[in-house]
Amino acid sequence: MSTVDSHDSDPIGAGDFGVWLANLRRIMRRGGESDVACGTCTGCCSGSQFVHIEPDEHVARAAIPPAWLVPAPGMPPGHQVIGFDAEGRCPMLGDSGCTIYPDRPRACRVYDCRVFAAAGVEVDEPEKTAIAHRARRWVFEYSSEADRAQHVAMTRRGAEVAHDPQLRDVASLGRALAVIRSQLGASADGANPASRSSARRRRTTTPRCDE
Ligand code: SF4
Ligand code: SF4
Repeated sequence: MSTVDSHDSDPIGAGDFGVWLANLRRIMRRGGESDVACGTCTGCCSGSQFVHIEPDEHVARAAIPPAWLVPAPGMPPGHQVIGFDAEGRCPMLGDSGCTIYPDRPRACRVYDCRVFAAAGVEVDEPEKTAIAHRARRWVFEYSSEADRAQHVAMTRRGAEVAHDPQLRDVASLGRALAVIRSQLGASADGANPASRSSARRRRTTTPRCDE
């Protein structure tokens, strides 16, 4: 974790856009972990999100008190979710961050709020203001004009989806991923880089634990 929160409105370096996108593509195709410089932010741990636990996640499941695990709605047996408390906080979130960090679920390992900055999609769910705030602060760098042009094209598409009848009612995460997938094409099939789902049941295109 880096110390990036000295001023909570300052821009934060999101890294090289082309490198970030290549890593995202790799995670989508083969799995892995995001490398978000979260600092002291816990926005996605306190944004009223269900955390999906897949059947093979034995280590994560063992670290979570059974009382917090419930069957994932609409999914086959073995898929579970962790809920959240009245303040929208994951029950595993302590005063100093995630209390099961080394054993945290896959969904937490892949979550990357830079998808919103990359896609130019605003996080507009009222319970996700901390994620929205962080997403607005990310600023990418570019090692080539092609990368810059790709990001411009992506954000242009992101602005369009807010008015697209097929996507305008989709949760912000689903819209951001739809924009990115449209840029990456078929190579983006596979894992979801931000697979925690919202409490608000808006239609989404995300493939796992969807609302
Ligand atoms: S909202 Fe973004 S920066 Fe904040 S904890 Fe989640 S992934 Fe990290
Ligand atoms: S398990 Fe840990 S990382 Fe995942 S949402 Fe809960 S507190 Fe955050």
